Amino acid sequence: MTDTLEKSKFPLSSIEFAENLDNQDKLSKFRQEFVIPLRRYVSGENAVTEKESDLDDECTYLCGNSLGLMPKRSRELINEELTTWGQKGVEGHWNHTYNRPWATIDELVKEPLANLVGAKPVEVTAMNTLTSNLHSMLVTFFRPTETRFKILIEKKAFPSDHYCVSSHLESRGIDPKIGLLTIAPRKGEHTLRTKDIIELINSDKEIAVVMLSGVQYYTGQLFEIEKITKAGHDAGCIVGWDLAHAVGNVRLHLHDWQVDFACWCSYKYLNSGAGGIAGLFIHEKYKNDQSRPRLAGWWGNDKENRFEMEPQFRPSEGASGYQLSNPSIFTTISLLGSLQVFEAAGIDNLRQKSIMLTGYLEKLLETELKQEFESDMIRILTPSDPQQRGCQLSLEFPENMMQVFSQLQARGVIVDERKPTVIRVSPTPLYNSFKDVYNFVMQLKQVMNIVYK
Ligand SMILES: *Cc1c(COP(=O)(O)O)cnc(C)c1O
Repeated sequence: MTDTLEKSKFPLSSIEFAENLDNQDKLSKFRQEFVIPLRRYVSGENAVTEKESDLDDECTYLCGNSLGLMPKRSRELINEELTTWGQKGVEGHWNHTYNRPWATIDELVKEPLANLVGAKPVEVTAMNTLTSNLHSMLVTFFRPTETRFKILIEKKAFPSDHYCVSSHLESRGIDPKIGLLTIAPRKGEHTLRTKDIIELINSDKEIAVVMLSGVQYYTGQLFEIEKITKAGHDAGCIVGWDLAHAVGNVRLHLHDWQVDFACWCSYKYLNSGAGGIAGLFIHEKYKNDQSRPRLAGWWGNDKENRFEMEPQFRPSEGASGYQLSNPSIFTTISLLGSLQVFEAAGIDNLRQKSIMLTGYLEKLLETELKQEFESDMIRILTPSDPQQRGCQLSLEFPENMMQVFSQLQARGVIVDERKPTVIRVSPTPLYNSFKDVYNFVMQLKQVMNIVYK
């Protein structure tokens, strides 16, 4: 817990404590950059209110881990694209009303994405969607041999990653029962120990690719990416990361950490809108490597002669050489709107606030729901060490989780549920306030009394 939380002159459980932190928060102004849904639209039929006008209040949105909120600039930027389309038609590729020609639109997001993941611009690109990028990377980096043919993921990896790896193995003629290796926490534990991951990497000599998630979607655990990457390399493996829950959430240094490849979606903490364009990192050391096969498309061709329409593929340097199709203008520009806010706020500042925001959430929960914790009605699955988590806390309710969830929603608190027992709560430093966290905990306290009376 950081000093600022401890030094406050207000009692932890008071609203003044939260308001005071919001007043001192230099990033609080960025909340205005986002559209916060009103309770009227999200509380459902069974909204619990004191008075009708409560429905005109903003909801308490703690669900950026699932879908980030809409940046106001993205709406403007998308409108500008529609204007350009209307005014110029195909000409918009070269001659754009707002000087963002579609032929090179993806270049606008390269640098801000590189800044977010600790990479050089040549190492990143925006393309496709997350699961399809994972497949693309496996085409390139999974080179099974007689003696090395396994891919390591978490036993509780996001289902799409399971399906991706299983189907990918099958496409290479490898039975997933043999090729898919998973790792689970120790019995009675919720999160993985780095030591256990490294031991498995060292002892199983048949792993070709280690492909874990940077932040585990279910538990919120942040893995020790640098250490695990190094251990994978020492054991002769390729190491790639699924950063869906890590990007825009924690500090990443993919270049320095020597990560081989990484993929992420952009609609969670990056606020690009549902189904937004995904991101890809490939380490600089592969930037001119043409020895590996790849899935190719015309957008991966060197842009100098892309429009010469030659049948011979000449890849762009670095990650851009893996692009397939011309990118969606709307999802790319919507992502740009959000990245501009990230650039203005600074990821280091955001992470600093995030550690406080989640630390406050944890502390307030443990204080206000002390009895419920003691009687195991509620548990936190996420590590308590801020260095081992991002902004999310995964709360386990062994009984009646869905009732807790619906009662929260009826009170204008938007979190998300993972059946059978987990509610994930993610205060994001870009648009959440300390008061949001306060509201959540106070509402949860009431809801617990109703559900478990
Ligand atoms: C959100 C998420 C996905 C979703 O994949 P899409 O291809 O973007 O639909 C996949 N993997 C992980 C780990 C995720 O968190």
